[in-house]
Amino acid sequence: MRNMAPDRRDRAVRAAVDQDLLTPAAPVAALLDVAGVRASAAALRAAFAAVTDAPVLHAFAVKASPLVPVLRLLHEEGLGAEVASPGELALARAAGVTADRIVLDSPAKTPAELREALDLGIAVNADNPQELARLDALVREAPTRSPLGLRVNPQIGGGAIDALSTATATSKFGIALRDEGARAGVVRAYLDRPWLTRLHTHSGSQGLPLSLLVTGVREVYELAEEINAAAGCRRVDTIDIGGGLPVNFTSDDETPTYAEYAALLAREVPGLFDGRYGLVTEFGRSLLAKHGTVLARVEYTKTSGSRPIAVTHAGVQVATRTVYDPVSWPLRITVYDAGGRPRTGGPFVEQDVAGPACFAGDLLAVQRALPRIEPGDIVAALDTGAYYFAHHYAYNSLTRPGVYGYVTGEDGAVRFATVRPPQTVAEIVAEGGGGHADALLAR
Ligand SMILES: *Cc1c(COP(=O)(O)O)cnc(C)c1O
Repeated sequence: MRNMAPDRRDRAVRAAVDQDLLTPAAPVAALLDVAGVRASAAALRAAFAAVTDAPVLHAFAVKASPLVPVLRLLHEEGLGAEVASPGELALARAAGVTADRIVLDSPAKTPAELREALDLGIAVNADNPQELARLDALVREAPTRSPLGLRVNPQIGGGAIDALSTATATSKFGIALRDEGARAGVVRAYLDRPWLTRLHTHSGSQGLPLSLLVTGVREVYELAEEINAAAGCRRVDTIDIGGGLPVNFTSDDETPTYAEYAALLAREVPGLFDGRYGLVTEFGRSLLAKHGTVLARVEYTKTSGSRPIAVTHAGVQVATRTVYDPVSWPLRITVYDAGGRPRTGGPFVEQDVAGPACFAGDLLAVQRALPRIEPGDIVAALDTGAYYFAHHYAYNSLTRPGVYGYVTGEDGAVRFATVRPPQTVAEIVAEGGGGHADALLAR
């Protein structure tokens, strides 16, 4: 089947220009392909439905797109929410995600956060023995509907990106299973606590091969079997396998697929799918990355040391990871003319695509072969639907761009819905303490 996403994207860029979403006053805009998001959510559900009849909660990792309309869309597509802070929990609830479909996972939950989660009946995965002791006290105080679990780190090693590998020997997440005495301690924790019924792991995000993800899942499955054998009952009834399906940032192909991952899991860890365990997944990036595009107007073009440079309005404020760690997070860039028509013809010229921020490293791409960029053109940073356009970095007080979802009607017309309006300069002043201008003057 032909991948229609690039056509939809080109049409949306043209429409964004025609409908004034991208103007000199709003020189950056972020677009989200709603049909693409729905398709990814459906593919995720179908992939697991194909390998198990057990109940599966697909909890979207809110940090990948902390935007209420996006969470609502995913909720309508049958997904729940994985949250890791009071802010993320509030966003999920504002989107209408019900408590029974929310999982709380942060490594630094306060007593108040734990109490709120247990009051609401939200699932909680404890990170460490001290947090487990807090849960002991709360469970003693009042009964709770919250399913409670423990996060373990199988210490299976990292992937290509250190900062995103959570199952390394010294990761800060979960109980390090291979540390001396840790495994026995975990088993004992379950034997002592009839209310501890879930096991959780998340081996990392982006850069982990499927085989390593599967190894992490197999490790927690085997631990669940060991606990249940020791308990003589199904103490662990649900396994949370985390997220981490990697995304292809080099082409429009969506690889690997959820179907491939689920099939591999079913082959390598068949016991996980035989109906004895409920499942939770926590995918983020793979649900949204391919469906987002950041557009930026080109303000100037110049050469420096004979290198052509396009100075655009999108840089470190929207593509923070790419700017600070370009080797780990390269982004595809495409070029459109001022009317939003794709520039595809040559000659191709190696150019730097720079952002607006005042430091030399603020570059979206270096020496990238692209059609020669002209002032007034539009550059598009592709595959930015997760962890990019809703992760603004406040450097240089650059305003957050508007985020717009698009759908294409039967007639080919593109309709936009505002997910988040562009931030105003007045809002920047307010965030910058504008209401407290005299605060430091008192003697
Ligand atoms: C970030 C995170 C996820 C989502 O990871 P993706 O790579 O975006 O799929 C899931 N679970 C936990 C605990 C996380 O921290």
